[in-house]
Amino acid sequence: MFDRYRRNIDYIRISVTDRCNLRCRYCMPECGVEQVSHDQILRFDEMLRLVNVFACLGIKKIKLTGGEPLVRKGLPGMIAEIKKVKGIEQVTMTTNGILLEENLPVLVAAGLDGVNISLDTLSAEKYHEITRKEGIEKVLSSLDACSRYPELRVKINAVTLADYNQDEIENLALIARDRDIDVRFIEMMPMGLGKDFRGYDQNVIIEKLTAAFGQPVINEEKRGNGPAIYYKFDGFTGNVGFISAMSHTFCSDCNRVRLTSEGFLKPCLNFSEGVDLRRIMREGAGDEELKNIIEETIFNKPGQHCFGKESDREKDSRRMSAIGG
Ligand code: SAM
Ligand code: SF4
Repeated sequence: MFDRYRRNIDYIRISVTDRCNLRCRYCMPECGVEQVSHDQILRFDEMLRLVNVFACLGIKKIKLTGGEPLVRKGLPGMIAEIKKVKGIEQVTMTTNGILLEENLPVLVAAGLDGVNISLDTLSAEKYHEITRKEGIEKVLSSLDACSRYPELRVKINAVTLADYNQDEIENLALIARDRDIDVRFIEMMPMGLGKDFRGYDQNVIIEKLTAAFGQPVINEEKRGNGPAIYYKFDGFTGNVGFISAMSHTFCSDCNRVRLTSEGFLKPCLNFSEGVDLRRIMREGAGDEELKNIIEETIFNKPGQHCFGKESDREKDSRRMSAIGG
């Protein structure tokens, strides 16, 4: 469906849990998230009901996220059910990769189309510093294991962290040289704990990569559902991408909305506006009523984010893990 700015909204990010097995400094406090009781989290049958309504409204692609989606029990079964929904063309997942390898066979059997693995560093020491946990070898092993499933589209997401990975740009990009994997650098957004971290600009990255691997060409081919811009370096199998929400705003092309694990539909990451679909469903709303409410919420999606600007409108102060990255 189209919003009031004629943007075609066909993509939703669904957070299946706000819990996580890591504690990335820019995302989650060391003590983890405050405990939310089970009945506050959408049940899978509720999520599936909403997916059916979203699909009727033109949503075609779903990204499952969190918190860490793989800590939620029963996720592969849920994926298999979502894949059966008429109109849903693609289901992908964003994960920290810790539990990915052991789950890959069931996830692929369930029909998962793609996976984004978040990995900000290749150094075990820095990994521990950033995530406050061990486990980089599990993430790297998961990444290797993905090559057993050529049908699964794999991407690496690395958040730019000036104090941690600016000296690893080339090494992170090299993951894309020998494998058909896109490595994307994500600009740090000043949300939640991320406000205390300094990122760096995509031009810094392009300069470094050009010095190391030669002049890249922009890859115009559509490679995903999002706003990433991709570059191809000579001799690389995969691409290097950039998602720079702050320095290269892409709101005018935004095609997505978000559903939090508590069932709150958020049309824009930056604003607290939205609608509590869990309450409405549990109060007995029928599908038609849900559809009308969702349609109106999506129609009123804000024109653009206001990160870095003062605004009268209420900004969302929630952490990224609560909203779904
Ligand atoms: N746990 C999963 C993971 O790490 O991929 C999924 C949820 S996580 C919130 C999704 C993505 O959001 C991760 O790639 C993470 O690095 C990114 N992220 C978290 N906080 C961020 C921020 N302030 N700015 C930009 N990206 C952020
Ligand atoms: Fe967990 Fe992902 Fe947040 Fe890291 S970025 S703490 S892995 S939800």
